[in-house]
Amino acid sequence: MSGTVDRIWSQYGYDIEDLLRDYYQDELAELYSKFPNEQSTLTVEWSDILRKDMELADYAAVKPDATQRCFEKALADIDKGPDIDLSDAHVQFKDVEQPLTIPELKGDDVGNLITVRGQVAKASAIKPRLTKATLRCDSCGGNFEVHQPVHGMNKPNRCLITDCNGQSFEPVFEESEFVEHQLIRLKEMPEDADGDEYLDIHLRRDLPGSVKAGDRVDITGVLQTDFDDFEKVIPDFWMDAHAVQTHETDYEDLDVNSQKEEFEAIANGEYGNPYELLIDSIAPSITGDDKIRTVKLAIALQLFGGWRRPYGDGRYVRGDSHIGIIGEAGTGKSSLLEAAEKISPRSGFVSGKNASQAGVTAAAVRDDFGDTEWSLEAGAVVKAHKGLCCIDEIDKVDDKALSSLHTALEKQRLEFNKAGIDASLRCETSILGAGNPTNGEFIDDVGVIEQLNMEPPLRSRFDLIFTLRDDEVYEKDKQISDHQLKMRQLSGLVERGDVEPEEADLISPEIPIETLRAYIAYARENVRPVIEDDELNEELADWFATERSNASKSINRRMLEGIARLSEASARVRLSETVNENDIERAKSILKRFLKDLEIWYPQNQDGQTDVTHLETGVDQGDREMARTIPGLIETLGDGERVEIDEVVRVAQESERINKPERKIRKEIRNMIDDGRATTDMTDDEVRLL
Ligand SMILES: [Zn+2]
Repeated sequence: MSGTVDRIWSQYGYDIEDLLRDYYQDELAELYSKFPNEQSTLTVEWSDILRKDMELADYAAVKPDATQRCFEKALADIDKGPDIDLSDAHVQFKDVEQPLTIPELKGDDVGNLITVRGQVAKASAIKPRLTKATLRCDSCGGNFEVHQPVHGMNKPNRCLITDCNGQSFEPVFEESEFVEHQLIRLKEMPEDADGDEYLDIHLRRDLPGSVKAGDRVDITGVLQTDFDDFEKVIPDFWMDAHAVQTHETDYEDLDVNSQKEEFEAIANGEYGNPYELLIDSIAPSITGDDKIRTVKLAIALQLFGGWRRPYGDGRYVRGDSHIGIIGEAGTGKSSLLEAAEKISPRSGFVSGKNASQAGVTAAAVRDDFGDTEWSLEAGAVVKAHKGLCCIDEIDKVDDKALSSLHTALEKQRLEFNKAGIDASLRCETSILGAGNPTNGEFIDDVGVIEQLNMEPPLRSRFDLIFTLRDDEVYEKDKQISDHQLKMRQLSGLVERGDVEPEEADLISPEIPIETLRAYIAYARENVRPVIEDDELNEELADWFATERSNASKSINRRMLEGIARLSEASARVRLSETVNENDIERAKSILKRFLKDLEIWYPQNQDGQTDVTHLETGVDQGDREMARTIPGLIETLGDGERVEIDEVVRVAQESERINKPERKIRKEIRNMIDDGRATTDMTDDEVRLL
């Protein structure tokens, strides 16, 4: 190694000193002022080395450690005033050529300085790590030093003091040296792959704490491998990081700007109504009545999203819509989720079944990752920050994960503070959740909300919840089957070459997925619509106020926010900075469809009133009305004495005020008897108030 250092130094020593003096004046001044406590490292961009000398840049890439020593030597040598000694300062390199993904790493890269791109899946607690162990020999009483590698540990077999073969030692803590250290696990971006391949990366000195679980990063460092223990035929790679760069823009990996004209053409309606195009581009194999189209439109608007902004008092108003789909088997809800995940420029997917909190949101976990006891692991919702996270089988998410999901949905941020871990993870993520109704299918005489299989705290956090039933109408069923068979036929013909792909328009989405992803990314990044017209604002406020006053149990303010988010998303589809009347109408019609779907819009309540508190509290207005009315009914019908239960049920069913199925009325009477408000005879035929 030192031979290489000497060779590089003798050839390039002056160049390196020049480079630092010419290009790094400001950075050096900062290092002088902060060294050694606040900053100990100077970061040099590889492109600057390339600008100075191509061969030196090659050395930096393939002999990074030796080149680094030369830069550190130059740093210590160059003149910087009388009082500063930088001989202990470090130099690191960043941004070497194009970033590689984890599957692209090859054995040839070992020992080289490379940049790798990925997402931090896990980060250990930050702890001092041993770099130089001082040991005292029990036999001769002398002290000796053992330098420690970045990865693993050096344990001497015998005393290193000449002629002493002692084999037992005591660590001398105060004479050993430590460096701040953190181990992170980098995985592929969740929307690019299933993300099983990983690279563990050591962050040292100034770098620990510079990234959090869930961050998307480019990390420059030296790729290393453990080939010393011979325990594996396929050695693991790991990296010693030089520089860490967190992605600042949201979608830098997508080629967005070159397709701008195409996006504008779609937005301006040159290929037809853009909203219809979007509906036809999401899971084209799933068709059905206008409800499916509404669900797809809602998903499309969710992908475009409203936008998040500060209210000025430290609070933020959320831009993301959360949507739930509760469907019977065979209604294609999982396919809808998969399609949405594919289209979203940022996405994650998790099944609620068997998923831990760490898998769903994020959690501090205790395991053998790194040398610290605890590490912070990012789950699907955190990894999909600024994108969409699909949660299938959301009804099966366990209690611990669920409570953290509530926080993620509402605050869009998760805080962790324990055992050396201090992090706040952002999760500005839209959730698209799917689940099964309580009995697997919807039962007619039970209220829809009771069958959602979601507790009130969770369902109240969704902007929209839709139900999908398999058994609606025969005609539709046939239409779907026709479509299904035709898809199979056409895809077969295309595969055999009998039909040109462009003729088989049933198969391909209206807008190709890659275009759609980029279009959404472009709109999310560049378009920030607001309702500019005060009159529109007033009209919406009026509509809202009217609905609230019409309804005995009001539509809540959260729903007004929901409409605002969907309207903004609708304007984004047109790439317009202005929310217009149609955007608002589109959002209102989606909300109405949702309320109707859950039977909390007009048809459900006898007075034509909306009862939204049911959604939030799990108790609907009809239930309360029934509980109030039935005791009076028993009293009147029995004239203070016993009355036949059948008669109470019959009269209650006829009552406009109650309007509940027989099963529910009998259950209410049973409840009264069970909790002692009423009594019954031996055969349970008659009832009397107590
Ligand atoms: Zn010894």
